[in-house]
Amino acid sequence: MQIAQNSVAAFHYTLTDDEGQVIDSSEGREPLTYLHGSGQIVPGLEKQMEGRAVGDKFIADVSPEEGYGVHHAELMQEVPREAFQGVTDIQPGMQFQGRGPQGEINVTVTKVENDKVFIDGNHPLAGKTLHFAIEITDLRAATEEELAHGHVHGAGGHHH
Ligand SMILES: [Zn+2]
Repeated sequence: MQIAQNSVAAFHYTLTDDEGQVIDSSEGREPLTYLHGSGQIVPGLEKQMEGRAVGDKFIADVSPEEGYGVHHAELMQEVPREAFQGVTDIQPGMQFQGRGPQGEINVTVTKVENDKVFIDGNHPLAGKTLHFAIEITDLRAATEEELAHGHVHGAGGHHH
């Protein structure tokens, strides 16, 4: 059996950046389970999962365009502190929901200067080339119910 549209696959991963720094890893945790073809993992990785089988180990290099997107300078803004009503202590690293051109976006505070707050609406991994070390651990066909819901049920997946 190979990974194809509507497969439910489980895999272990270690994600590193261009410098070899580990950004995220499933090591010591349950493998990640996803429904293939449903856009639950970044497009560049999903593409390279196609046709893989249990036991396959490989490196998937993913460009920003097929990862978390390119970095948009226009998503970095300076807003007055009054915009954060009810928040008394604004610190770099804090995250807020904001309104972007395409609806709700998450913004991260990058700097606070007097009454100015600098925010960044880019995904933290925007603009980065991603390097995934992948090991496929499990593979099966999705159930009718999973296909109807568009997500995985059961161990490692979604619970109702
Ligand atoms: Zn469901």
